[in-house]
Amino acid sequence: MECAFLSKRCFVVGMGPGKESQMTKEAVSVIEQVDYVVGYPVYVELLKKAFPEKEYGSTPMRKEKERCQLALSEAAKGKDVAVICSGDAGIYGMAGLVLELQKDYPEVEVEIVPGITAAVSGAAVLGAPLMHDFAVISMSDLLTPWEKIEKRLRFASEADFVICLYNPCSKKRADYLKKACDIMLESKTDDTVCGYVRQIGREGQEAEILTLKELREARVDMFTTVFIGNSQTEIRNGKMVTKRGYRL
Ligand code: SAH
Repeated sequence: MECAFLSKRCFVVGMGPGKESQMTKEAVSVIEQVDYVVGYPVYVELLKKAFPEKEYGSTPMRKEKERCQLALSEAAKGKDVAVICSGDAGIYGMAGLVLELQKDYPEVEVEIVPGITAAVSGAAVLGAPLMHDFAVISMSDLLTPWEKIEKRLRFASEADFVICLYNPCSKKRADYLKKACDIMLESKTDDTVCGYVRQIGREGQEAEILTLKELREARVDMFTTVFIGNSQTEIRNGKMVTKRGYRL
C-alpha cells in the first residue's frame, strides 16, 4: 500500500576530492540525514570513517546502472537515500544516470548536490592553471569512442584551451596519455607547462609540474588528474599559473 508520508527522496551527492573539509556543508548535512548511502566501494570506505553509523550499499565499477537502480528502489520503499560520487556528481558522476532511470521510479524525488570537482581541487594544488578558458576531457573510451576523444583533444589544443584530463590511464589504456600528448604536440609547443596531481585531498597526495614533452613520458594512474597549460601558462615560484592578461 502507498504511504503518503514516506519521503521517497534520492540525493546524488558530490563528495569533493576526498578530505572532509572539502565536502560542502550541504553534502555533509544530506549524508547526516539519509538512511541509506550507495556508492562505488572505494568511496563508501572513505565515507564510513566519517559516518560509521550509516547503512551502506555498493556495486563495483561497470555496475553503475545497478548502483543507481539500487538507490532508486530503496528510495521507492520509503528510505531517504544518497548516491555518493567523488568530486561533483554531475561531472562524470551518477547524476545523469539517476535522472535517466528516474522514469522507472516516478514516485521518487531526485535532488543533485554539487561538489568540488578534481579539476578545481587539483588546480588549487598546482597553483592557478585554469585562469582562462579551459576544456575538460575524459580519456576513458568505455562510453566514448576513442576517435571522438582524439578529435576533442586536437580541437581544444588547436584553440589554445588549457586542457584538463580525467581518467588519464587504466591497465588497458597504458599508452593513452602518450597518444594524447602526441596529438596536443601537433599544436602546442614541447615546453608547454603541464602538471598532474595524484590522490587530491587524500593520503599520499602528490603533484608534479613538467613540460608537455616530459608529460609524454610520465606514468600516471587512474587516481590522477592532468593539466596541460595554454600558450600563456608559466611557472611562477614553483606554481603553474595561466596568465589572464592583467598588466603588471
Ligand atoms: N566526479 C568526479 C570525476 C569522476 S571520473 C569529479 O568531479 O572529480 C574519475 C577521474 O576523476 C579520475 O580518473 C581522475 O582523473 C579524477 N579524480 C577524481 N578524484 C580525484 C582525486 N581525488 N585525485 C585525483 N584525481 C581525481
